Amino acid sequence: MIFALDLEGCLAPEIWPVLGAHFGLPEFGYTTRDIGDFDELMARRMEAATRAGLRLADLQALAHAVEPYLGAREFIARLRAMGNVVIISDTFHEFADPLAMKLGGVNLFSNRFAVDGDGRISGIRMRIRGRKERLVSGFKNAGFKVAAMGDSMNDFSLLRSCDFPVLYRPVEALLVEFTGAAVAHNLDDALAFFEGAYAKLEEQGEV
Ligand SMILES: [Mg+2]
Repeated sequence: MIFALDLEGCLAPEIWPVLGAHFGLPEFGYTTRDIGDFDELMARRMEAATRAGLRLADLQALAHAVEPYLGAREFIARLRAMGNVVIISDTFHEFADPLAMKLGGVNLFSNRFAVDGDGRISGIRMRIRGRKERLVSGFKNAGFKVAAMGDSMNDFSLLRSCDFPVLYRPVEALLVEFTGAAVAHNLDDALAFFEGAYAKLEEQGEV
């Protein structure tokens, strides 16, 4: 069994709003919960970074101080007793690699920045956009059952393509798309659902 989890909003706070509050840039503060179009969201963030003269290292200093939600590391440790855990996120490795380590060294699939000679962000290398479903399908094609957890519309394809979706404190639009899906209000809820799914598979000899 494979657990494919969203990062921000599920296991840790959103990173960009932390940067937005620190640098006084509201454009950083918008998230996928506010602007569904990820390309537009990123264009606004990058514009703001350029205008403020910020280098990637300036942003990383703060991003690397973001801590997981209380209990998130233990949550992942419990999932690991039942299968493999991967985080599939629209964030950036340059921001979130330390967070993945703090969560116990989880495999992170996310995007990367392109940086110019002065250390300024010059572009983004999309590695995840539109590929969440393909990652899940890949696991399924290899014979694995996949459980997933996400909180926003950018997790739609992840949740749609998996076997056991969990909506974690979801935005309204996600609730509308997945009527009847499991809704978790905290990580204990999510763990209980995943344990139930695992028990069902175990009974059928499919874990
Ligand atoms: Mg999220």
